[in-house]
Amino acid sequence: SVVEDAPALTDGFQLVIDALKLNDINNLYVVPGIPISDLLRMAQAEGMRVVSFRHEQNAGNAAAIAGFMTKKPGVCMTVSAPGFLNGLTALANATTNCFPMILISGSSEREVVDLQQGDYEEMDQLAIAKPLCKAAFRILHAQDIGIGVARAIRAAVSGRPGGVYLDMPAKLFSQVMDAAEGAKSLVKVVDPTPAQYPSAEAVNRALDLLKGAKRPLVIFGKGAAYAQADETIRSFVEKSGIPFLQMSMAKGLLPDTHPQSAGAARSLVLQEADVVMLVGARLNWLLSHGKGKTWGKPGSKKFIQVDIEPREMDSNVEIHAPLVGDIASVMEVMLKGIDGGLTPPTDWMATVAAKREQNVAKMAPKLMSNASPMNFHGALGALRRIIKERPDALLVNEGANTLDLARGIIDMYEPRKRLDVGTWGVMGVGMGYAVAAAVESGKPVLAVEGDSAFGFSGMEVETICRYNLPVCIVIFNNNGIYRGTDVNPTGGNDPSPMVFVPGSRYDKMMEAFGGVGVHVTNPDELYRAVNEAMDSGRPTLVNAVIDPAAGTESGNIGSLNPTSSVRKM
Ligand code: ADP
Ligand code: MG
Repeated sequence: SVVEDAPALTDGFQLVIDALKLNDINNLYVVPGIPISDLLRMAQAEGMRVVSFRHEQNAGNAAAIAGFMTKKPGVCMTVSAPGFLNGLTALANATTNCFPMILISGSSEREVVDLQQGDYEEMDQLAIAKPLCKAAFRILHAQDIGIGVARAIRAAVSGRPGGVYLDMPAKLFSQVMDAAEGAKSLVKVVDPTPAQYPSAEAVNRALDLLKGAKRPLVIFGKGAAYAQADETIRSFVEKSGIPFLQMSMAKGLLPDTHPQSAGAARSLVLQEADVVMLVGARLNWLLSHGKGKTWGKPGSKKFIQVDIEPREMDSNVEIHAPLVGDIASVMEVMLKGIDGGLTPPTDWMATVAAKREQNVAKMAPKLMSNASPMNFHGALGALRRIIKERPDALLVNEGANTLDLARGIIDMYEPRKRLDVGTWGVMGVGMGYAVAAAVESGKPVLAVEGDSAFGFSGMEVETICRYNLPVCIVIFNNNGIYRGTDVNPTGGNDPSPMVFVPGSRYDKMMEAFGGVGVHVTNPDELYRAVNEAMDSGRPTLVNAVIDPAAGTESGNIGSLNPTSSVRKM
């Protein structure tokens, strides 16, 4: 018959799915709508995991953190114009954090957009995305889907990882072509992250500095965690005997309780070290730009920096020994290089350890507080125990005081388990990160959220319930932003812009969608509720009542608030 003789056909929908699956991308973080709804239905039918969110920014944040966790680009799909713009915030955040991610947005037809004739959700998305991400491409023909997806993947993961935008006009999906030709057009990316070794000269320069140091220090950033060179890094640290600091999302690369950890002696080591080796950490605001009183006497340090991005060198201060390359390769050569030639700085390490023990002992009684209403330390003492007992659980953390104090108090034991506000210090990543953490790892997730931070992505509790994910959200509810005590100075009826409805019951939001809601007022209750949630794996939200007067303005970064001598609040 005519039908049997006709050549087998394929279409744009199918080729997008085939191209992603061929490259081992099996999870999609999405918000459906015109023109991608059928694409998502088909992707699910083809065995992909399609996680459908309530807002694109949260879907995008999920894709971004999936990229960090897996070293493969996390993929987010959105509709055009406003959906695209919502996703773009997450793409920009991923790029800033060096997480590989691909944002695929449906778009309107070029003919109409380019003549600005006013289409449904008309927007020149490619042009808008370009300055905010690492690369941006548009695919106009079905036969280019294979090469377009391959370019997006390579652009996202090679060199310094980042976000890539892929524009797919609606008509692309319905284009039809010969199935055999279509199959041939697909590309499996070969060696997307090639090993990059530094020259022998660069390695020797760094080794000379390290060997001559009296008070060396290594600082690991989230780039080191991302690199998945965990064993090499551990061997380097232990063989060298050098104390180390771990930036927020690098915590757990080595256990925070490791004898060489200087986490609880941070001020001392930053001031006193004479040679500092940065590994996948930028000297940005999170490290006071490498200068100022945090860093001791001006000119008292020499820096070694390991980074895949050559332009990162000398970004803030002079880097005396740049090591440009991928962390796995560089650390492998450095490990060989210190063999025999480096004497562990035992006196310095002992000084650091003494300071650490002193600070840990000072903190310990605060963490035992069972006061009600809870302060941050009492509540975090309970959660610290949870992670100690479940080192393989994922910890998501955002807020102001909730972030700063949790970062210091909750020890991490395994790499890539702590997911937080990252380079921007941004609020709103919480639920997106929590969903992806559960989906990508299959492990229980604890999300420790300030009440304000939670509000930016709170509707995704429905998503967590719908997919029945093992996520336990703890809201540190102190009735407001920073604190819950601000009042309207005019005495008018409006509340201060800094406070929320006092005594809110966020736990009831979870119950509305069939999850477990718990209301707790002291650390014992908090520990019990979280422990049960982590055991059961049921979606849970714990509303933890914190003293509204606890906490400080902007947490640890209050100094970033501009002040004027004319107006003092
Ligand atoms: P943190 O905020 O934890 O200090 P940053 O995000 O500032 O970490 O720094 C991460 C750095 O790691 C970036 O400069 C990035 O270029 C680098 N990086 C990421 N992946 C790799 C890799 N595989 N090899 C080398 N450098 C990497
Ligand atoms: Mg608050």
